[in-house]
Amino acid sequence: VQLTPDAIDEYLVTNVTIVTCDKAHTVHDNGALWVKTGRIAAVGAVGEFATSNGDIPVIDGGGKLLMPGLVNAHCHAGDTLFRGLVEDLPLEEWLANVMETERNALSERSSRLSATLGYVELLRSGVTSVMDMFWYPEQNFEAAGDVGIRLAGGGIFFDGVGMDGIEATERSRRATAICERYGRNEMFITGVAPHGAYTVSPENLVEAWNVACTQNGFFHIHAAETAAEQQTVIARYGRRIIEHLAALGLLEPRTLLAHCVHIDANEIALIAGSGASVVHNPMSNLKLASGFAPIGALLDAGVNVALGTDGALSGNDLDLWLAMRLAATMHKAASGDATCVSARQALHMATLSGARAIGAADRLGSLEPGKIADFILLDTSGPSATPMHDPINHLVFATSRADVTDVFVAGAQVVRDRTILTLDWPELRRDVLAMANKLRP
Ligand SMILES: [Zn+2]
Repeated sequence: VQLTPDAIDEYLVTNVTIVTCDKAHTVHDNGALWVKTGRIAAVGAVGEFATSNGDIPVIDGGGKLLMPGLVNAHCHAGDTLFRGLVEDLPLEEWLANVMETERNALSERSSRLSATLGYVELLRSGVTSVMDMFWYPEQNFEAAGDVGIRLAGGGIFFDGVGMDGIEATERSRRATAICERYGRNEMFITGVAPHGAYTVSPENLVEAWNVACTQNGFFHIHAAETAAEQQTVIARYGRRIIEHLAALGLLEPRTLLAHCVHIDANEIALIAGSGASVVHNPMSNLKLASGFAPIGALLDAGVNVALGTDGALSGNDLDLWLAMRLAATMHKAASGDATCVSARQALHMATLSGARAIGAADRLGSLEPGKIADFILLDTSGPSATPMHDPINHLVFATSRADVTDVFVAGAQVVRDRTILTLDWPELRRDVLAMANKLRP
């Protein structure tokens, strides 16, 4: 199927099954999507459009499935160059190894190349928005601009001298400058990214929070990923991690808590009462043996739960489809309850709830009139997609990223027939291989 010429700013996509991912989980079997200057003008059954819009260019979707671009709410794309270098270790040992490798190899140039690689992988798989946390956030924004993916990013906070050689006392000023520099671009969402409650002091956490509030940005932090992290915080501050964050005044709707594996009932209630989001990273939790996050209990408590791949060191691929399928399966096995985390809940975690977590539910995450036209097309002609009794069940339990054929961001096509249009992949691959040769010990 030959889809939009880039010059067309108004068009109708027809002959598609549309999974809107709206609150009601609306699906249009024979649907149409009307795109006007990068926004969704209308979405619905094809019959509603046929008569009134005769002059608009019509794109034949070829019977594919059309849905919103996915939102990856926790990633470290700057790690993509290191994937496969450190394996089969528990988190604390693993992190020490990772940091040693990073210390030897990280630079602005390697970070930008690494992030570019990660974002190409994500965009090709149908992820149109990503929340990233890494040492060189400016390089993430530059890389995202090159690739054409939406990025939520911001300044890191870390006690002592970080992997980037920056002192803790410099963090606040730099984080503010990043928000001011990139926050005006409508492809970007800015905020702050303090690493965790065990690596950032209460004073520095509050400093990060003040930047987030002043800049009206997000506050993205690792929280309760491992039992050891929980023990460290209890020993140091005499309270559990989420209680600690709450006591410091850091739980609000702008807050994204990555992981929340080791939290108790009181911590779940604190998160639910605050409106903060939790980002679940099932692949990372499984691989690093971090444990099973209480996702069923969080959802029951009304917490907004988003989904992430985490970095390629703990991933190893940045596959949000795999994350979605794991989110909808592993908690069933862990709890002995096959109703735990439904397909519909898992799909929302990767779309609408992800958009809410990054502060963009008003414009991203579902296909509804007025929202930005970030959408993807999936091939449904293969044996594993035949028949498709319930498209949502199918997307969660039987679809893989290889099924994604076309990707649109703000109505413009960025992936066509699985080929990225925004940059030259063979050239990027050559650069990545040349850099990777220098990384190996
Ligand atoms: Zn992480």
